[in-house]
Amino acid sequence: MLYAQVVLPLAQPMYTFTVDETLGVGVGDAVVVQFGSSRYYTGIVWSITTQRPEYPRLKPILKRLYTTPLLTPEAQRLWEWMADYYMCSIGEVMRLALPSLAKPSAASLGELDDRSIEPPTERYIALSEELRTEEALTEYVAKHSRRAPRRCTTMDSIAALAFERGATDGFVPRRLVDADNDSIAALKRSGLVVVEQRQITRHATEGDFLRPTLSEAQERALNTIREAHATGKVALLHGVTGSGKTEIYIHLIADALSQGKDVLMLVPEIVITTQLVERLERIFEGRTTTYHSRLTALRRGHTFLRLAASEGGELIVGVRSAVFLPMHNAGLVIVDEEHDAGYKQTDMQPRYNGRDTAVMMGMIYGAKVVLGSATPSLESYLNALAKKYAYVELKERWGEGTLPEVVVSDTIRAVKRGERKTHFNLDLIQDIERTLHNGDQAILFQNRRGYAPYIQCRTCGYSPRCPHCNVTLTQHKATRHMECHYCGYTIPTPDICPNCDIKDMALMGFGTEKAVEEISRLFPEARIDRLDGDTSTSETAFRNIVQRFESGQTDILVGTQIVTKGFDFGGVSTVGILNADNLLSTPDFRASERAFQLMMQVAGRAGRRNDRGRVIIQTSQPKHPVIQQIAAGDYHAMAHGELNERKTFGYPPYSRLIRLLLRHDTYDVLHRAAHHMAQLLRQKFGGRVMGPVSPALEMLRGEHRAEIAVKIECGGSMKRARTMLRDVVDRCHAESCFKGIKIDIDVDAW
Ligand code: ADP
Ligand code: ZN
Repeated sequence: MLYAQVVLPLAQPMYTFTVDETLGVGVGDAVVVQFGSSRYYTGIVWSITTQRPEYPRLKPILKRLYTTPLLTPEAQRLWEWMADYYMCSIGEVMRLALPSLAKPSAASLGELDDRSIEPPTERYIALSEELRTEEALTEYVAKHSRRAPRRCTTMDSIAALAFERGATDGFVPRRLVDADNDSIAALKRSGLVVVEQRQITRHATEGDFLRPTLSEAQERALNTIREAHATGKVALLHGVTGSGKTEIYIHLIADALSQGKDVLMLVPEIVITTQLVERLERIFEGRTTTYHSRLTALRRGHTFLRLAASEGGELIVGVRSAVFLPMHNAGLVIVDEEHDAGYKQTDMQPRYNGRDTAVMMGMIYGAKVVLGSATPSLESYLNALAKKYAYVELKERWGEGTLPEVVVSDTIRAVKRGERKTHFNLDLIQDIERTLHNGDQAILFQNRRGYAPYIQCRTCGYSPRCPHCNVTLTQHKATRHMECHYCGYTIPTPDICPNCDIKDMALMGFGTEKAVEEISRLFPEARIDRLDGDTSTSETAFRNIVQRFESGQTDILVGTQIVTKGFDFGGVSTVGILNADNLLSTPDFRASERAFQLMMQVAGRAGRRNDRGRVIIQTSQPKHPVIQQIAAGDYHAMAHGELNERKTFGYPPYSRLIRLLLRHDTYDVLHRAAHHMAQLLRQKFGGRVMGPVSPALEMLRGEHRAEIAVKIECGGSMKRARTMLRDVVDRCHAESCFKGIKIDIDVDAW
């Protein structure tokens, strides 16, 4: 008899089932099991032994699903690492990794049958049969080259390609033919060419992809990355916005695909990458698969099964959860915009970071890894400084593009001089005026983040900060006090500014909606649109807004973070950052880094195809180091300044932050338990424990919340710390005062 350890999509350990050998069950297979008296689950076979476990009453595996195993040995190692590092069960990894394939009931199965899944295809093209001899083609061209020169060139190039590639049947991949779809369609209609769908070949050949010609700087960067990869290092590609990081990725992708390897390219969000995906699809036709959460669960399940059965040689472009897709021969993992907060899963276990997982994949698969950004995370930058990663810098925009001019506009000064209308300084108003006059476009960025607004002195711009943690204090409205969200330091909300003694403290903050209202009053003629979470609830709505702006039907686009990401709009000459103070004052030790990243990204939208790019930053703190660093475009100054602060206060990347969120319906029960837990933790971790504190969201969906954080300094054993922490959590769970309390663990919390 054989016994199988099976993972179920639950926050539980694995269970053992008996295996009937006739089912042909192997490691990595999806199977159906009965669990409890009447529930059926899809599970994954983790291991098989002949050793009978102690437990007397074992149930059998009922059925094997799908013709191919869902998990490779590498994927098993990745899941194990993830469960261990992020402190969850492998079942929780499974629940997240296999959407729709792991529904907790057998009834829903059978929707997907992997035998019906077709392998990917791409278009091949050949001259029509009569024209496939040299004489016939020469004769045709001689006859028609005067009247239809373009058509003849295309036909010539098809013949030449077929010859070069030794394609005896005359067929060549469509993507290698330099002609647009309309001309190909016309040739087809006239019966001059034939087009056929064919399965992609796993091993593409060198020169099988149309690689973009690189600039000298790009060529150098590419070579440095290749050298780093040859020594097994992760490469950090730091390239300013518009420097052409994508063209470098394309070369690396073509390298990997030519060797029959799989490529994974992670992006923070898929809706903003339409331009990128279209570009990649043109070059890597048939091999490109996109993966994101807006696809239906069924569609994602389908993709998963297709890739599980794939021969390799495919390019996956997806959001963080794409790290779970089956890969057979991963050769390259690219993380674009590696600094993006969207890579961190926060709402359920495993609370993993897609970027860090990508680096781990590099180790497990022996794959090459590239992290790309215009503003690298301090985590990656520190790794580069420590020579763990190879650092590759691209300082210039590609081609004619120049970096925009940055103007810092002092809001307090503007108020004093009567040069401010509602939330707009005269500087900005005049710039928008000029932009509209020139027929160019403007982007206005207003980030309304956080739940509780912060307070600020309207006279001097001061916001109260915690003396122990160096973050701004958050206003708690009900109790009229201010609290540090890291250590719990509390002061009564001041009426009088502690900095300038003037009674002028104000609740701050305004959102995009209000900004639109005000800007339309200032420019009644302008066509204004808004891009934020409220206006882009569906992908269609989002695309419509973007398309209107792209085609010049909108003059001014007001938006949140979403406008900062990756768009390549040609006509933008003004970018306005409406309230930089907002960004500098978030209660988060990453506030400065994030503010710099966001503002540099949004600034990067200006002047991409002309030299009229101007960025206006409205702030009451023009002397703030981050503002100065943005004005100078000096990433290195920001990074070194911030790293110093982080070192002083023991924050990441000099430590790892594990956050415990406790939840319960009753305030008193929660806080008694939280204090008890903090005490137990302090016995083991001493001063590394912070809290308990009330998070910005003290209550969510009727539940009270309390937070405890543990800072583990780098160099200390993270593994030991996790074990100790796990002990405390388990001990607490066993105590009566923790009855009904939920504990969420977040490793490397944001
Ligand atoms: P980044 O991702 O670094 O911000 P992109 O890859 O979007 O930059 O490139 C910016 C623009 O410059 C794009 O429109 C891109 O097509 C163009 N570009 C960059 N490098 C090249 C190149 N070598 N050949 C042709 N176009 C290029
Ligand atoms: Zn504090």
